[in-house]
Amino acid sequence: MTGSEERVTDDALDVLHLDMDCFFAAVEVLADPSLARRPVLVGGTGPRGVVASASYEARVFGVRSAMPMSTARALCPRAVVLAPRFDAYRSASERLLGILRAVTPLVEAVALDEAYLDVSGAHRIYGSSPEIARVLRATVRSELGLECAVGVGRTKLVAKLASKAAKPRVSAEGVVPGPGVVVVRVEQERSFLLAHPVRALPGVGPRTAERLSRFGVSTVGDLAAVSRESLVRLLGSASGRTLAELATGSDARAVVAERPARSIGHEETFPQDISDRAELARRAREAAGRVASRCRGAALAARTVTVKARFGDFTTVTRSHTLPARTDSAVVLGDTACELLASLPARGGLRLLGVHVSGLAPASELPARQLELFSGDRGAAPEEDERHATDRREEVEAATDAIRRRFGQGAIGPLGRSSRVGPVSSPAGPVAPP
Ligand SMILES: [Mg+2]
Repeated sequence: MTGSEERVTDDALDVLHLDMDCFFAAVEVLADPSLARRPVLVGGTGPRGVVASASYEARVFGVRSAMPMSTARALCPRAVVLAPRFDAYRSASERLLGILRAVTPLVEAVALDEAYLDVSGAHRIYGSSPEIARVLRATVRSELGLECAVGVGRTKLVAKLASKAAKPRVSAEGVVPGPGVVVVRVEQERSFLLAHPVRALPGVGPRTAERLSRFGVSTVGDLAAVSRESLVRLLGSASGRTLAELATGSDARAVVAERPARSIGHEETFPQDISDRAELARRAREAAGRVASRCRGAALAARTVTVKARFGDFTTVTRSHTLPARTDSAVVLGDTACELLASLPARGGLRLLGVHVSGLAPASELPARQLELFSGDRGAAPEEDERHATDRREEVEAATDAIRRRFGQGAIGPLGRSSRVGPVSSPAGPVAPP
């Protein structure tokens, strides 16, 4: 080790917590720039609806998430109220996870807009934890067009509180930008923790907070001064012991990378049954295009394509085909989906059509990319033309992703069939039970 003392201290700060700023509302503003700088509420629009996400411009009026929508509308009558579009949020979330997983495989998504990272294995390539935090934030902004806050610390608890401290704040005067990245160094950890209200600790809800306050405990500092035995008597043995640990900064929870998605799919129920084959093929390509985008966003490639069709009489049929190699190409997935569609029995119009892919693996294992990595001399390769076609296709699809990201899914129609790329599907497999 050649690192200075400062460097050694930095390396202990291996947990990052990244939290997107008012995620659903921000995705809506990105999709419709006319909403920028306006108060935007996303949530249930019915009489019992609740706010799922509020832009900072709405929070200035006292609106908070989880508040009844009727209360939020009363506080901010000129707010734009939108029903949630979870497809769009999921797709942005998958792209976010793709960015994070490029830095470390140890990514634990805790919500669509929030993840922990363990970067202990990433320093040699990406630098210190604070550097990684700043790069991630800049990448999320440039790739997704969205803002986030990143907290850096020794434990999950500290990283999470740090990302909160990095957020913009609302005051009577308006929105005050936050630092974006907050690093809590080991020697600052104790004072940082002790200043927080007990409500900031995981597992402390309103009831526990109320009990503690009757006991004269309102901050983590107050909590740290109470003996473990007293806390166990007050809150029961499980909560009492956990809180005593957290109050002293000990948090043994590891960052656990969950398995990536087992399948990615897109389904559409039509307002009226569709029987026109060309129209159905167009819809299948469109669905395949969305699925391919989501695969690329999550840096995954798929091996098996499944088409799900529901007829007017509610009979549901699925057809699957396993490709010779994994792919994240809209053209290949679209071609395969169309061939599966064509193999369906003629039974009148469809009320639902879905395209799903499974057999997912990280896209870095794609054969075409491995070829690029390992063949130094492009000119000598006999598959030059084929590879050019693959490169072009990837460029076109990456550009399509970028345009859809900026202007919405409808901005570009499905990519057409390519004669030179994409394996030809073999006859469809057996009918799976619906
Ligand atoms: Mg958030």
